[in-house]
Amino acid sequence: MLPERIPLVLATRNKGKLYEFKSLLNYFDVELKTLDDFGPIPSIEEDGETFEDNAVKKARFTARVLGFPALADDSGLVVDALGGEPGVRSARFAGDGASDGENNAKLLLQMEGVEDRRAAFWCVIAIAVPRGPALIYEGKCEGEITRKPAGASGFGYDPVFFYPPLGKTFAEIDSEEKNRVSHRGRALQELKSEFGKVLIWLRQRLLEEP
Ligand code: IMP
Repeated sequence: MLPERIPLVLATRNKGKLYEFKSLLNYFDVELKTLDDFGPIPSIEEDGETFEDNAVKKARFTARVLGFPALADDSGLVVDALGGEPGVRSARFAGDGASDGENNAKLLLQMEGVEDRRAAFWCVIAIAVPRGPALIYEGKCEGEITRKPAGASGFGYDPVFFYPPLGKTFAEIDSEEKNRVSHRGRALQELKSEFGKVLIWLRQRLLEEP
């Protein structure tokens, strides 16, 4: 017997992401859970070659360990002139445990004298059940790498990511404006528009599970 409200674990400890996911999915007939609702679970290495690999790996692992459907995401910055770097290594571009400032400094150094400044933020959201396939949602936001940091809001590479339609870096716009156009905002909008079907898919998968 399936519960009336399908449980879904949001597999992230990032408070900002939790807030975004919750505010978007709260209206649906789903019982949202966070990792804090459970005891300690082993950590998982984000060693995939693509954002999709990592998002699916995190969602699958969490679903398997906790026995509930799980949602996870992975994101990062893809710079054309650097052959797609920092990509899946965005968080640790300047080394394990690197600060945002250190990652930005390394990026600007590597981009010194480079004319082609095109870059894009990518976000992949995966939803997985304890066994079987996963659902994937993607969002992308195209912009340019600045020559020096600008702005104080946001996080990560926001101060060096210039978004031409607004004529500002992501660190110069407020979070509401950023959510409307960002990679994560777009992936979330896609997920939201499909979420009715996602719930049907989840019910079917859970009924099939042994
Ligand atoms: P993750 O999805 O939490 O693994 O994020 C990977 C890394 O990508 C972050 O640590 C940031 O460096 C970068 N990143 C992802 N999304 C953003 C964003 O919206 N702004 C700035 N940096 C981001």
